[in-house]
Amino acid sequence: MYLVSKNGNINHLTKNSQSGSFLLEMLRLKTMDKIEKEFDVAIIGGGPAGMMAAIKAGEKGAKVILIEKNLTLGKKLLITGGGRCNITQAEFNNKKFVEKLGKKGQFLLSALSIFGPKEVCDFFEKNGLPIKTERGGRVFPVSDKSQDVLSVLLKCLIKNKVRLLLGQEVVGLNIKDGKIVSVKLKEKEIFAKAFILATGGKAYPGTGSTGQGYFWAEKMGHKIIKPLPALVPLEIKESWVAGLSGLGLKNVRVDVLQNNKKIDEKFGEMLFTHFGVSGPIILDLSKKIGEIMSKGEVILRIDLKPALDILTLDKRLQRDFQSKRNFKNYLPDLVPQKLGDLIVRFTKISPDKKLNSINKEERKKLIDVLKGVELTVKGSTGFGQAIITSGGVDLKEIDSRTMRSKIIKNLFLAGEIIDLDGPTGGYNLQICWSAGFVAGSNATNLTI
Ligand SMILES: Cc1cc2nc3c(=O)[nH]c(=O)nc-3n(C[C@H](O)[C@H](O)[C@H](O)COP(=O)(O)OP(=O)(O)OC[C@H]3O[C@@H](n4cnc5c(N)ncnc54)[C@H](O)[C@@H]3O)c2cc1C
Repeated sequence: MYLVSKNGNINHLTKNSQSGSFLLEMLRLKTMDKIEKEFDVAIIGGGPAGMMAAIKAGEKGAKVILIEKNLTLGKKLLITGGGRCNITQAEFNNKKFVEKLGKKGQFLLSALSIFGPKEVCDFFEKNGLPIKTERGGRVFPVSDKSQDVLSVLLKCLIKNKVRLLLGQEVVGLNIKDGKIVSVKLKEKEIFAKAFILATGGKAYPGTGSTGQGYFWAEKMGHKIIKPLPALVPLEIKESWVAGLSGLGLKNVRVDVLQNNKKIDEKFGEMLFTHFGVSGPIILDLSKKIGEIMSKGEVILRIDLKPALDILTLDKRLQRDFQSKRNFKNYLPDLVPQKLGDLIVRFTKISPDKKLNSINKEERKKLIDVLKGVELTVKGSTGFGQAIITSGGVDLKEIDSRTMRSKIIKNLFLAGEIIDLDGPTGGYNLQICWSAGFVAGSNATNLTI
């Protein structure tokens, strides 16, 4: 059984639960007026970055408090990976890992060398969570339950005697002589020698990530690179996409075009929604699209047959079109059922036309459609549905070896709040684990 003492400390852990719900119930019992006020390390934000930072700082023997405004920790973590939590990416070559994070990726190299994907996998396995690697290097718990990932973190927080303060919103920071002295809660103040800001970004604000950390960081003198929704579904102008809602396409290529110039491309899976498009490759392209939207119209060109060049596709069609089958009966051989009507509409080939009477011009039109369905981007669905926020605290002002602020002596930053993000596939949680681990470790060095 878990025991929570009157002063808010967690004293015993004798139940090895994976559900964690009982534990959370107990944690909620703590009352603010009973908790101590002075700590070695105070961490603001109980997401993956804050929890990992707290675990590491606690492990090193520091007196640590983790402050979270929700009544539970890891509210966003629970919805990651569709509730399955794609914990990390099985890319154990750190140089290759950071390439996926774009130009700013180098910043993470040092943290990855200390606590990279391999160490994250070991951490969860050693703490009793079997993991598996799926297509594209995506690492998940074998149970397919994000709750089990959270339970491991809760168990480690307790083991390392981290004081948890749930349902308490930090409303301000008290700064003196270039150092944070305390954090202000609605009714109390918490003093510490070092502080870790892990308040996340602005994506999915319903989970608690409302961007307050940016405001404080800016107030303390940090430059904030404009936060933008990233890994976000896109709204499309063409109304016919709504008719395809729910249709997933595999092995397609999407080119991003602006002023007839190709800006980016991705190969893989996408999904039609009632308002536009989503799915892995769309989410991964959305950041770039968000950056260029203000410069002019953005077109997505979908190649439904990227493995076949025009000549090879034409040869295949010529071969197929020797048959007397109806065009409409043949279409499911070529594209998913739901796309059949669209092909008919765009090619203007009668659905009842016999394949062997389709002429060269019609065949060329069909190839044009198969190799280039065009969609006009209206915009993104915004922070409400964004998986992550791009932008955040400028990396130039953070020491990449320690995650310590170069502006405020006793401030450390970790997780989505910093100006670093990656594609889908576990990269973003890995940023949190690595940065949190390093921040927790070094915040402790500062204090004990
Ligand atoms: C739907 C969805 C699915 C995702 N799936 C994956 C995935 O499978 N794999 C992956 O790698 N990434 C995934 N991500 C991204 C990943 O969840 C985030 O990158 C990650 O949660 C960021 O962690 P964080 O600790 O920096 O911030 P957060 O998880 O946002 O946590 C910050 C915490 O700080 C708290 N907080 C904020 N302000 C205050 C305050 N003033 N006082 C007290 N507390 C405060 C918040 O309540 C919140 O709990 C997904 C995101 C979403 C939205």
